[in-house]
Amino acid sequence: LPTRADLVAYQQGVAGHDGTLCDVDGELFIKPCTPAEIAFYESSLATHQDFAEFMPTFLGTLTLDEQQNGQTIEEAGAALIAKHTVPEVVVSTKSSKKIVTDQAVVLENAAHGFVKPNILDVKLGVRLWADDAHQEKKIRFDKVTEETTHKELGFRIAGMRVWQGAKAVGKDIDADGYKIYDKNYGRFDLHKGNVHEAFKNFIFSELAGVDEELGKLVAQAFYADVCRIQEVLESQESVMFSSSLLFVFEGDGVALRSAMEEASRSPATLQADDGDASSEEDEDEDTSPKIYSVKVIDFAHAEWTPGMGPDENSLVGVRSVANILKDLGSV
Ligand code: ADP
Ligand code: MN
Repeated sequence: LPTRADLVAYQQGVAGHDGTLCDVDGELFIKPCTPAEIAFYESSLATHQDFAEFMPTFLGTLTLDEQQNGQTIEEAGAALIAKHTVPEVVVSTKSSKKIVTDQAVVLENAAHGFVKPNILDVKLGVRLWADDAHQEKKIRFDKVTEETTHKELGFRIAGMRVWQGAKAVGKDIDADGYKIYDKNYGRFDLHKGNVHEAFKNFIFSELAGVDEELGKLVAQAFYADVCRIQEVLESQESVMFSSSLLFVFEGDGVALRSAMEEASRSPATLQADDGDASSEEDEDEDTSPKIYSVKVIDFAHAEWTPGMGPDENSLVGVRSVANILKDLGSV
């Protein structure tokens, strides 16, 4: 029998709702979500592979309920493992207090495998609400747009955490040495004139050993991925309201440097995981250190819209972020 691993609260979230979970090994990220988000993952995988490449790997769904369609959560978890060789998932119904839906999406944890993951959530869009939003929400979100970088740049910093070195202590620094920039940072401290400083604070951290040289390489890698995301969005017809770009990179400068050196010795490790089933065993053994990751996340209000044109609303933000990263990466 497979061993059971209980789910625990996910500790590294930088924005969004409470109630996200992960397995004890930290490989899985489990988020209570709406049927619409699950549907978007499934349709993206089925028909938009080049976009799906930038979504966190979708491992399946869980029902955070004791019984659904005659299947217990244990059976749902076991089926998931059989399909994907991930650790067994067992959901304790007691831990689901904050969850308002009984459905959850099981994703790869984008921060897994990093020694000290620095994480940034950039929320996209000028307009933040979908057509079906209530009037009250439209007014509230329009106010957010009006008061923040959403208005002119089409994005805002939703939250971030940046490792400050082993000895760091002080205001806004957590027990593990991460400086936490909460939702108020992007909401009230940043504007068009200074928002690039947020990306600087995220990428460059002398205290953690991420110096000018390493930071520029990270900015260049992020820039390349964001350009690719821009290209894909420009070539497809979709809408996403309040989705995010999730940036992660190795925040420990020493680990980052050695990961980059290792990658430059074996170029194959630089290539993205193509999900090829035949190489599953190799993937399990792949322990090459992580450098960075860029994902698009949060598809509660996303759909494919054939005939409606590209998502210009999200693209405003993607292009703004690309410009900032380009500047930070240039010599
Ligand atoms: P919400 O609808 O609550 O905003 P999100 O999908 O935006 O949900 O997720 C909330 C937070 O959880 C994000 O800001 C990010 O920090 C974290 N997160 C989301 N997806 C992943 C993932 N696949 N891997 C790691 N962290 C994630
Ligand atoms: Mn979100």
